Amino acid sequence: MTLEEIDKEFVLGTYARDYTSFTRGEGSTLYDESGRDYIDFASGIGVNSVGHNNPTLVDAICQQAQNIIHISNLQVIEPQAKLAKRIVELSGYNMGIFFANSGAEANEGAIKIARKYGETQFDKKRYKVITLEHSFHGRTITTVKATGQESFHTPNFSPYPDGFSYEKSIEDVYSAIDDETVAVLIELVQGEGGVQPFDKEDVQKLANHLKSKDILLIVDEVQTGVYRSGEFLASNLYEIEPDIITLAKGLGGGVPIGAVMTRHKDILSIGDHGSTFGGNYLSSSAGLAVLDVLSGLYDENIIDETIVYFATRVKEITQKYPHLFEQDVGLGLMRGIRAKSADILADIVKKSMAEGVVILKAGRNTVRFLPSITINKDEMDKGFERFEKAINNL
Ligand SMILES: *Cc1c(COP(=O)(O)O)cnc(C)c1O
Repeated sequence: MTLEEIDKEFVLGTYARDYTSFTRGEGSTLYDESGRDYIDFASGIGVNSVGHNNPTLVDAICQQAQNIIHISNLQVIEPQAKLAKRIVELSGYNMGIFFANSGAEANEGAIKIARKYGETQFDKKRYKVITLEHSFHGRTITTVKATGQESFHTPNFSPYPDGFSYEKSIEDVYSAIDDETVAVLIELVQGEGGVQPFDKEDVQKLANHLKSKDILLIVDEVQTGVYRSGEFLASNLYEIEPDIITLAKGLGGGVPIGAVMTRHKDILSIGDHGSTFGGNYLSSSAGLAVLDVLSGLYDENIIDETIVYFATRVKEITQKYPHLFEQDVGLGLMRGIRAKSADILADIVKKSMAEGVVILKAGRNTVRFLPSITINKDEMDKGFERFEKAINNL
């Protein structure tokens, strides 16, 4: 049986998969079985934040694996405690952290914190969470319901939990708030929804309003967090102080880890929440290594330089092909180009792979780039050269 046949027979068919099989990676270059190289502008959907085969990350994982990979959360876990401290220090917020294994789970934790806050802090129970259209918050029954895209709420998985509603824009959130609203959950840059950043002043105004009403602001930084925006958190870039922030994708550099952090450190008590794997020795050690690498690059202004170069190239290409593209979107190393149609987008993704550059889609018609934060100039040049070759034939 070929690999494709084995996959199709034994793995449930939940993904529209490409069957290029990568066997090795180095920095932002991937190699397939035949040794052919590809520039990685996707980084495993924003996960391989320090690239492939990063020596600091690989050393940390190997050393940790030789000692302890996992002990339950019933014992103290040294790298977990250190990772929590490091994240809090880098964020600049006075918060406590709970570790999970994924973005959806981090958001589940955020919703649980908000629900308990709404149950215990007011005379009349508050439980409703407002989210935005085109948002994405995960695939569990609750986080899929929190996701503001009707196509995700198929009756196949109903009934869904109550208490979620969606607004078209930040401006619409104000009038949607009622005396049962406990929280507003937003991404600062909608990733899956089309690489769409919100306006900084709109977000700041909303944050102030929510604070004045004692309604929690939950910022889903599963994709924007860990330097993808150019700052440690997009919340830092937007200069807001959320009540709850969630992280996942880039935090472990590929090792599964999620985190929910909150300034309401006493809301959850013993037994309220838990995870078998969350923040174990292996994933926490990986997280510490990732933060070492990326905070070093940040301090040397290298992340900023990378962002400026990447964004400039994306803009140039967008303007050079007006018959294919409308505009470039995004911020930091979350970049997109709006294609003139969904068909053009599908063509571009396929042809790019054929030319040796891995890219992503977002929303209906957005070409999406989520490169490693550590990508270098040569890799960017090579990737965009191949991307242009792919679109030249269209
Ligand atoms: C990817 C993503 C999630 C879901 O993360 P998983 O690890 O796949 O559960 C949630 N929110 C945002 C903003 C994401 O980009």
